[in-house]
Amino acid sequence: MIQQFKSKVVSNKQLTEDVKLITFTCPDDFTFQPGQFASIILEKDGETKLRPYSILNPPTEKGQLEIVFKLVPEGLCTPILFEANEGDEFDLKGPMGRFLLDEKSENKGHWFIANGTGVAPFYSMLKTFLSKYPMKEFGLIFGVRHVKSLFLHENFIALDKEFDNFTYIPTCSRENWEGSMGRVQEHLPDDLSNKCFYICGLKEMVEDTRKLLDDKGVDKSNVHFERYS
Ligand SMILES: Cc1cc2nc3c(=O)[nH]c(=O)nc-3n(C[C@H](O)[C@H](O)[C@H](O)COP(=O)(O)OP(=O)(O)OC[C@H]3O[C@@H](n4cnc5c(N)ncnc54)[C@H](O)[C@@H]3O)c2cc1C
Repeated sequence: MIQQFKSKVVSNKQLTEDVKLITFTCPDDFTFQPGQFASIILEKDGETKLRPYSILNPPTEKGQLEIVFKLVPEGLCTPILFEANEGDEFDLKGPMGRFLLDEKSENKGHWFIANGTGVAPFYSMLKTFLSKYPMKEFGLIFGVRHVKSLFLHENFIALDKEFDNFTYIPTCSRENWEGSMGRVQEHLPDDLSNKCFYICGLKEMVEDTRKLLDDKGVDKSNVHFERYS
C-alpha cells in the first residue's frame, strides 16, 4: 500500500565525495519489496515535485528507510538532501515500482548490473534473497569511474565472503587498480543462458547493456531494468 508520511533524517553519512547515505524514519507499518523506491516530495514555485530514490535497506529493517544519492549540483532535490541534518523533516511517499526480483523464474542465476547509485536496489535485494535462495547464483557487477567512487564496497565484499552463491565484481572504468577495469558490460558472465539480468543506473549504461544482451540472444523476458535518468 502506498503511504505518504512525514519523515525525519536520522543520519546523513558521506560515502564518497558526492554520494551520501540518508537514513529516514518511516512508520513501523511501512512495508516494501526489495527493488522498490520512495519519492521525496518538494515544493518549488508553487508546484509539487517528486524525486524517486531506490530503497537501500532490506524490508526486514522496520521503522527506517535508507537511500543513497549522488549530488547533482544544479539539481532541485539533491543539494537539499546533501545539506540535510539530523532531525530535518521531509515528506515521503512510497513504496512504488516494479523493479523486483523475478522470484518465479526457473533460471539458475540472477545477475545485477549497476553504475553509481544504481547499485542501491541490489543491496536491498541481496540482503533479502541471498539467504532465501541458497541454490540460486547471484552476481553483482558494480561500475564506477574511479576507486574513490566505490561505496558500500566493504559491505559487498562481506556478502561475497559470507555467501558462496554470490559473486561481486566491482569495476573502475577510468583507473587502474587491483580489481576489474572497464565498463560493466565487459564483465558479463561468459554463459548468459539460464540467467535473469537486472540493470539499474543512468540511461546510457542501461540502454547499452540491454542492447548488448539482446544482441547476444538473451530473451527480453529475462532482462529487467530501472533507469534513473
Ligand atoms: C525509479 C528511480 C529511482 C531512482 N533512485 C535513485 C537513487 O537511489 N539514487 C540517486 O542518486 N538517484 C536516483 N534516481 C534519480 C533521482 O530521482 C533524481 O533524478 C536525481 O537525484 C536528481 O535529482 P535533482 O532534483 O537533484 O536534480 P534535477 O533537478 O532532477 O536535475 C537537474 C539536471 O541534472 C540531470 N541529472 C539528473 N540526475 C543526474 C545524475 N545522476 N547525474 C548527472 N546528471 C543528472 C537532469 O537530467 C537535469 O538536467 C532515481 C530515479 C528513478 C526514476
